[in-house]
Amino acid sequence: MSDSPTPTILVTGGSRGIGAAIVRRMAQSGWNVAFSYRSSADSAEALAAELSSDGVSVKAYASDAADFEQAGQLVDAVLKDFGRIDALVNNAGITRDNLLLRMGEADWDLVIQTNLKSVFNLTKAVTRPMLKQRGGSIINMTSIVGMIGQAGQANYAASKAGIIGFTKSVAKELGSRSIRCNAIAPGFIETDMTDALPEDTKAEYFKQIPLGRFGKPEEIADVVHFLASGHSTYLSGQVLSVCGALNC
Ligand code: NAP
Repeated sequence: MSDSPTPTILVTGGSRGIGAAIVRRMAQSGWNVAFSYRSSADSAEALAAELSSDGVSVKAYASDAADFEQAGQLVDAVLKDFGRIDALVNNAGITRDNLLLRMGEADWDLVIQTNLKSVFNLTKAVTRPMLKQRGGSIINMTSIVGMIGQAGQANYAASKAGIIGFTKSVAKELGSRSIRCNAIAPGFIETDMTDALPEDTKAEYFKQIPLGRFGKPEEIADVVHFLASGHSTYLSGQVLSVCGALNC
């Protein structure tokens, strides 16, 4: 029997979609999981109750990732409950799509705050505990849209491109302390976010995806598991596109 403590992962936006698949995958792999949500309290609590077992503990926290104070309080609460944070997944994200001509300042600000500032908020809050633990894995959810752009998504694309620069900088800054930082760039994944797309837009995307389908949240969760685990210990500062060859 190993004496090493059960590893703990913190996932932002774990109540639905890709985040919920990550929570499930990590709990089923023997990790304790803390995850946040903004408003879906019922589904978050149901997921935590379903996955908590004798072996692992899964706990949901209401916390707005875009709010600097709340992010700090979330990390403090997780450290109090679990004693450590071995991996952080900055997954929370939103879209507020519109052509630039029609995009209002409020939709620009909300997307940048939720998608990009949240990554700063949470990463900053875990840095000190990870330095004390002498290691950690930070995984940021960007998007292929942050690399190739998308009409109607200037705010979203800018937030996701910002995450890539942040990821590479943090990897350089914290690498000497065994803290790794990587990003995952999903293509189109079947969640509420892509459900909102008109059917004809979806049909157009299918034609452009060499694998001929949207991805599943579980296919992103598998990559998170790889990046959080001991199977990727020399991998840092990278952006892994998980997009059915759409961006290659
Ligand atoms: P989703 O189904 O809409 O779920 C979004 C999650 O983020 C929910 O759990 C939501 O919580 C949470 N959230 C939103 N704002 C938050 C905030 N301010 N604080 C805390 N949690 C917040 O989205 P998804 O498709 O799973 O996307 C997850 C991530 O992958 C996002 O960063 C997205 O940009 C990225 N991504 C998705 C795709 C795709 O095709 N789906 C492609 C590329 C990248 P509530 O349930 O409480 O609202």
